[in-house]
Amino acid sequence: MARDGFNINPATRIYHIVKFKDGSAYLFFSGCPWNCVYCVARTVSRWCLSISQARASGLRFGSMIGLREMLDLLQNKKVHTAFLGGEEPTYDPQLPIIMNGLKSLNINPWLITNGELLDDEMFFLAHGITFSIKALTPSLHKSITGKSNTRTLENFRKYADPSKVVAETVLYPGIVECDEALKVAEFIEGVNPELRFRIDLAVQERQLGEHLKECAERARQVHGNTYYFEPGQGAEEPEVLFPPSL
Ligand code: SF4
Repeated sequence: MARDGFNINPATRIYHIVKFKDGSAYLFFSGCPWNCVYCVARTVSRWCLSISQARASGLRFGSMIGLREMLDLLQNKKVHTAFLGGEEPTYDPQLPIIMNGLKSLNINPWLITNGELLDDEMFFLAHGITFSIKALTPSLHKSITGKSNTRTLENFRKYADPSKVVAETVLYPGIVECDEALKVAEFIEGVNPELRFRIDLAVQERQLGEHLKECAERARQVHGNTYYFEPGQGAEEPEVLFPPSL
């Protein structure tokens, strides 16, 4: 049972939880005020992409797990790290309570965020943060997300602690080209050369792995701490903890 103090059970925006073999879990939050053209949750699947089609078809979207139920579940499953992503976790008003609850159980909260709503409390509570910069060019950012990147870039400068923050951008040939990723790399280099920077390939374009590799090599000339994962890497099927299958 989760520790006293978290025995209240407010609804969260968490609709899906999976646990990986390495003992980490991924918590999927619903809701985001942005509208990215390539948003995986909205254009590909709201479920973890590493679960099989058959497994996903047995899940029904609609119920959000309560705080106490979520903490008990992760504690019972001996989870050590909780990745908080899906749509935008910082959009959940319960996020600080969720992160405090996780920390009370010695579960490390790792935020995956567009950074716009990041604040001091979330930053303090996070064990790590993957901070996504969708584009540096203001007009491109507006056209692909529907929002300005002013606050995101301000927050990035404010919270860019290399011991906690990993920067990320999404390469989507035809929409976000490598030249834009290089601008993001240059911006990160200007903020702090020690920051890690990952370039991801949009899952819709997984077949363009060579393009990703070439772009990451070019970005390394601008910001030495650039890396990428081979598309499909680490795709072992996780255990679905929530929602229960139909
Ligand atoms: S910021 Fe993330 S969750 Fe929000 S629309 Fe963009 S990709 Fe989707």
